[in-house]
Amino acid sequence: MNILVINCGSSSLKFQLIDMDNESVQAKGLCERIGSDGSRIVYTPAGKDKIAIESPMPTHTEAIKLVLDCLTGKENGVISDLSAIDAVGHRVVHGGEKFAASTIINDDVVKTIEECNELAPLHNPANLIGISVCSKLMPGVPQVAVFDTAFHQTMPAKAYLYGLPLKAYTDYKVRRYGFHGTSHRFVSKHVAEFLGKPVESLKTIVCHLGNGASICAVDGGKSVDTSMGFTPLAGLVMGTRSGDIDPAILEYYAGKENLTLAEVTTVLNKESGLAGLTGGKSDCRDLEAGYEAGDQKCIDAMEIFCYDVAKYIGAYAAVLNGVDDIVFTAGIGENSAFVRNKVCEYLGYLGVKLDAAKNAERGDDRIISADDSKVTVCVIPTNEELMIARDTKELVEK
Ligand code: ADP
Repeated sequence: MNILVINCGSSSLKFQLIDMDNESVQAKGLCERIGSDGSRIVYTPAGKDKIAIESPMPTHTEAIKLVLDCLTGKENGVISDLSAIDAVGHRVVHGGEKFAASTIINDDVVKTIEECNELAPLHNPANLIGISVCSKLMPGVPQVAVFDTAFHQTMPAKAYLYGLPLKAYTDYKVRRYGFHGTSHRFVSKHVAEFLGKPVESLKTIVCHLGNGASICAVDGGKSVDTSMGFTPLAGLVMGTRSGDIDPAILEYYAGKENLTLAEVTTVLNKESGLAGLTGGKSDCRDLEAGYEAGDQKCIDAMEIFCYDVAKYIGAYAAVLNGVDDIVFTAGIGENSAFVRNKVCEYLGYLGVKLDAAKNAERGDDRIISADDSKVTVCVIPTNEELMIARDTKELVEK
């Protein structure tokens, strides 16, 4: 069974075609700058080099057409025609309180996703365009929506309600939703398999540390708390996002800089975090190099980032009343031995003991804690596309 996984952003589109008989990626790629000049597709068929094709893509329709042309192309295609695509799995950012699991898409589901648009005005409409274009170009092919928020719908009210007038929640849907749910679900399930333990028996803290970063407390396979909130702006200091700040700063900063509230929100999303602290460096590799070279701004930014991660781990160890395993994933979590080491230095009181040699190794799923560590610390590469494809397969086979 071949499943096409689509992740439609406002001006980009990522895709993978996965053969679910052996979960192998047949081809993957990215369409960039949809709707502006210089749009191009970067396409990588399995076992071959990347191919970049410049082509006008005024809308997502042309982008998806181009993806399908690449997949079925004579020279570099991986399937003979569209009938070889058995189902399409879509990443949808926001499912509000309506979706606690992935679902087959029909007209009612589309309407309900539309109702969530105001909660994710930049993302959900793009996801819906992807759904609509695929159903037109591949009529009759089942489509599935996999939500970033769904995994966190198991959080109790004490974790998701904010201390605001209750009408913020009852009338305006303001609550913690949490994001990266597909990744947290994949990783928390996969680590249990990797450790050979039933997921129901584990108290796990997943640290998804990428450009966007969030931490999730998972009790017996269920999300009970997570650091992102009403939007992905909350929680940890991130590449360009501020993470948690005192909300009174907004009005004060707007006054000082003569900005509107919307402009301050843009500053918090795009010009803050590690980039804000260093004057533009948001990539962990640059920050590590700056740290080693003694650049004080990089030192401060890295110290703040790792301190934040450790603080959330401490909070979630309390929430879970103990922790069996801590998992690092995503770009920084998978690759930065520096960050993992610095974070774990704070966690001695939990009985965390890192094995320096194991932490320095590279590879796939691995344990990096010492044999006598009370908490198992792992690195598990995340794979949101595979999770989307697995959900899609399961639902269409039902
Ligand atoms: P997102 O999906 O949120 O854009 P990723 O999970 O792809 O982010 O992570 C991207 C980040 O991972 C980069 O910005 C970089 O900081 C970090 N990263 C990637 N490779 C390395 C590496 N070898 N060492 C340290 N950090 C890395």
